[in-house]
Amino acid sequence: MMTGAEYIESLRSLKTEVWFMGQRIENVVDHPAIRPHINAAAVTYDLATMPETADLGSAVSHLTGRKINRWTHIPQNQDDLVKKVKMLRVAGQITGTCFQRCVGMDALITLYSVTYDIDQKYGTAYHERFKKFLIETQDRDLMSDGAMTDPKGDRSKRPSEQHDPDLFVRVIGRRDDGIVIRGAKMHQTGAVNSHQIIVMPGQALGPGDKDYAVACAVPADAPGVVMVFGRQVNDSRKWEGEIDQGNAGYGVVGGEALIIFDDVFVPWDRVFMCGEYEFAGVLVERFTAYHRQNYGACKSGNLDVLIGASMALAEVQGTAKASHVRDKLAEMAHLVETMYSGALACSYECQLLACGCALADPLLANTSKLNTARFYPEVTRLAQDLAGGFIATMVSERELENPRLKHWVRKYYATKPDVPVEERIRLGRLIENMTGATPIVECMHGAGSPQAQKVVVQRLVNWPRRVRLARRIALGGRTPEPPVTEGGESR
Ligand code: SF4
Ligand code: FE
Repeated sequence: MMTGAEYIESLRSLKTEVWFMGQRIENVVDHPAIRPHINAAAVTYDLATMPETADLGSAVSHLTGRKINRWTHIPQNQDDLVKKVKMLRVAGQITGTCFQRCVGMDALITLYSVTYDIDQKYGTAYHERFKKFLIETQDRDLMSDGAMTDPKGDRSKRPSEQHDPDLFVRVIGRRDDGIVIRGAKMHQTGAVNSHQIIVMPGQALGPGDKDYAVACAVPADAPGVVMVFGRQVNDSRKWEGEIDQGNAGYGVVGGEALIIFDDVFVPWDRVFMCGEYEFAGVLVERFTAYHRQNYGACKSGNLDVLIGASMALAEVQGTAKASHVRDKLAEMAHLVETMYSGALACSYECQLLACGCALADPLLANTSKLNTARFYPEVTRLAQDLAGGFIATMVSERELENPRLKHWVRKYYATKPDVPVEERIRLGRLIENMTGATPIVECMHGAGSPQAQKVVVQRLVNWPRRVRLARRIALGGRTPEPPVTEGGESR
């Protein structure tokens, strides 16, 4: 396993083509727009290698028996899923932001079971091929970007019906030694600081979409892979100073990129689905169950930091003892623990798949993600309410050293004689940046938009059973109670 520092050094040997604001970035590792996100991803390596956290951050590979980073582990049972969630909360508490490595982790877990299922139906050899790839990923402790979201074009049309066939990633050529893929994946968290990209379909596909049914892995710096790093609100603060960033160490959300696949060659030993369109739907369902499992955990960890900042600022500003402040802090904690309960619940209520790996309960995982998308903005609203308007109007950090202004800035931003002004400003900037537009949009649409979760809830809830439960009671118990397993769905 690598330490965080070793992971950061390992990125230096990659030749990934990354563009930002019109220019190619030659040194991705030290670029101010990207480095904070790299530091956040490095925490996933430190958690596995630091003795205090190794129980959560590492696991034993079920394939090799060797100790591996849990971000490359295939959950074998309930305990593994629970530890995954606990690990994410801790990582969220340390970074206060997205640490990016979970999308690749969930891509590995999902492909492990889906390749098994494809082989069962078609007698293909995807699963053995995938296991070799997985062992290499585990042994080299690689960070993978899980690339699922296509540009999608006109949402009312299937991939094969789009005016431009490249609006979903597709196979454009099959050769003796491999395939060639073309297209793009959007909003790719942590892509620019990953070692490899795992491409998967992003929605259920039909018989006409066979070329779009492709899952494969490519090195991040493979020829033809081009990444364009996206902008965030206030991102220029990253190269203007330190305090105004709020979280200069780890950044705001994950650092997302558009990945373009400009006719990229993939050798067969890295192809894990090629044409089996009827497995795209189940792949997406499982991936989203795993990734939506996470959100109630990583975001709880982030919001623990926000609660702490709100409380610390209240102390600095002399409002900590006010009953309405204590009430709002309790409300924030209540919402956060509700989010976390969902992440734990879907892990405890897991099922074992045919290949032997454990799947988080999809109904609870989707419900948990929906709660997270709803509660996260509410917690940020309470944090802004408690902080006061100064988080939106503060003068820049440069004024703290401006010879003409610094005396007045320090005088008028002071709250108590024993509290350094800079401390109040730093806490305010942390709250400002954690409650800004980018993290709220990320929490809403990351792991799928709220409507995608509602669709799963609509599909999985056993509605007729609920009607029968009500009718039995309303009609005076004249019909027998429906059995708990009715319809194959216990709830
Ligand atoms: Fe991991 Fe959360 Fe970031 Fe997704 S949003 S990659 S689950 S930290
Ligand atoms: Fe995310």
